[in-house]
Amino acid sequence: MPITRRSFFSRTAAIAGAAAITPVLSSSVYSAAPKLGSQVPGIYRFNVGDIEVSAILDGYLALDPALVTGFDQQTAADTLEHNFRDPNTEKMTISVNGFIANTGDKLIVIDTGTDDLLGPTAGRFHQNLKRAGYNAADVDTVILTHLHVDHIGGLATKSGEKLFPNAEFITHKLDYDFWHDDGYRSQSPKSLQGFFDLARTYSAPYKNRTTLVEKDGEFLKGFDAVHLPGHTPGHMGIRIHSNNEEVLIWGDTVNSSALQFGNPDWTIAFDTDQEMARQTRRKIMDRVSSDRTPVLGIHHAFPGLGHVRRIGDAYAYHQSPWQHKI
Ligand SMILES: [Zn+2]
Repeated sequence: MPITRRSFFSRTAAIAGAAAITPVLSSSVYSAAPKLGSQVPGIYRFNVGDIEVSAILDGYLALDPALVTGFDQQTAADTLEHNFRDPNTEKMTISVNGFIANTGDKLIVIDTGTDDLLGPTAGRFHQNLKRAGYNAADVDTVILTHLHVDHIGGLATKSGEKLFPNAEFITHKLDYDFWHDDGYRSQSPKSLQGFFDLARTYSAPYKNRTTLVEKDGEFLKGFDAVHLPGHTPGHMGIRIHSNNEEVLIWGDTVNSSALQFGNPDWTIAFDTDQEMARQTRRKIMDRVSSDRTPVLGIHHAFPGLGHVRRIGDAYAYHQSPWQHKI
């Protein structure tokens, strides 16, 4: 019911009357409560038309400034300060988010976090999925934006058991083929060859239920592929749409929401093709800022939902307000 001047005053008068007969508060109200010392579970729910989407937090990772190409200390500190973040670049962190969408007849997971592959600050995707009220066995489809370790970790166990036992697995063909190509693996620096091995190990249990997306457009009802190459060859955005509403899950288009909206030419060491990643980022930022399309980022500050505004030659990110109504 909307608050009107009349209803507001009649309600507050009733409350004032009730307060007059409230007994004196007991002294226990003033006793110290123990501090809980940890954050509440990372779950956030909102609607895209008829599709109910929940953001599920996997955790967070430190972002080493040495991983950012184009980075310069002073600009980074200024950008962080401008965004009301701690300007100490040594303390930069990024969220790791995943998502689950309920279309009414299908449960669809998008990206699955790190499991235990990147340390104890992340790896809680499955725990938070349960807390959000979902059973992994009920999931019909798992879509990965790309096969990096922080997206594929919750897909299976190291010993090859599916963590979504009844799901089909969907990713972009160019990504699947790249990580399964022995030539690319052997040409890569030794430090990156493990990425190939993990992509293979974690996707293998789904071999008989894998669908590879080859072109942009709808591949499931309400889910469109948007190829965003550069971060990896088959890096793919997923546009969820229903009843004239939409959101674009743009994967790792932005790895640091604090730095890369203001400095969109800065790339990340994990971009397979730095120049293509830079161009793709600019192109899609242009598009979503002029179309006013809401975006969801795997590494935006949780829950990762917001809009992009163009400011001169750069951009700003506006995190969406809490959605009260589901
Ligand atoms: Zn990532």
